[in-house]
Amino acid sequence: MQLLDGKIVSQSVKNTVREKCETLKKEGGKTPHLAAVLVGHNGASETYVASKVKSCEEVGFTSTLVRLEEDIDEQGLVAVIEKLNADEDIDGILVQLPLPKQISEERIINIIHPGKDVDGFHPMSIGKMVLGLPTFIPATPYGIMLMLEHYRIETSGKHAVVIGRSNIVGRPVSILLNSNANPGNCTVTVCHSRTKDLAGICSQADIIVAALGIPGFLKADMVKEGAVVIDVGITRVPDPTKKSGFAIKGDVDFDAVAPKCSYITPVPGGVGLMTIAALLMNTLNACTQK
Ligand code: NAD
Repeated sequence: MQLLDGKIVSQSVKNTVREKCETLKKEGGKTPHLAAVLVGHNGASETYVASKVKSCEEVGFTSTLVRLEEDIDEQGLVAVIEKLNADEDIDGILVQLPLPKQISEERIINIIHPGKDVDGFHPMSIGKMVLGLPTFIPATPYGIMLMLEHYRIETSGKHAVVIGRSNIVGRPVSILLNSNANPGNCTVTVCHSRTKDLAGICSQADIIVAALGIPGFLKADMVKEGAVVIDVGITRVPDPTKKSGFAIKGDVDFDAVAPKCSYITPVPGGVGLMTIAALLMNTLNACTQK
């Protein structure tokens, strides 16, 4: 079994982004600038946004963090996004989800300028991705593809099972895995909460992407010998032994599943780090491909 190490791969992607950013600046080009919008005080969201901003600094980008109160109304947030859309210095906009319940996430995603949609959630980005046209790929699925590419994992002709069909992970990763590309060219089965015999389907998979948000869901008897397992899940579970009071758990029963795998991602230290690296890559592209 080999670990798919998010620390190593994300660092390699970040190094590439940093070098390209330095070249851009030396040639008199613009410094990439990411604006992150954080509404309210959700602990996990605060952590994610802080590490995205920190990563921007690491690669030489400019970043702006826009903090808004939990009770802001939808029109107030729309006004903030419209200002960022119009600001020529801002290349990429990310709005950290989830948003408070008085705000429609769909509406907010729709008003982000497609040229600044570095999270890749805008319908135009998703549509282009489905058609195989150049666009912003949602950061987590993009990070998974970069991970498969880095370890030169053969995907062509393989049976991939994706557990979860969300717009931000499961569905886009299923489309990318089945695209005529490398990595890609898999035969993909997408499982979800209504799937019958999920264990039987998983046990036929060469590649499993678990993205459902239930800690330890994927058990050893659901995994074939030699499978590649990608664990997307991030759930905070109470753990009094930790200073923070919680531990981060993935969707895979790692200790039992790992010995059966050819490759597996750990949690933490796997897909989460790749998500940030992919976001930086999208922001660089937003800056250079205007
Ligand atoms: P979501 O809640 O939007 O979607 C979950 C999906 O899982 C749904 O499509 C649902 O049908 C499916 N599902 C739920 N219960 C199921 C079951 N018993 N059997 C089969 N399918 C089931 O979640 P999401 O936003 O896609 O996130 C999934 C997980 O990935 C969460 O733990 C989230 O925190 C994590 N996540 C991690 C990253 C990262 O960077 N690593 C990024 C995004 C999300």
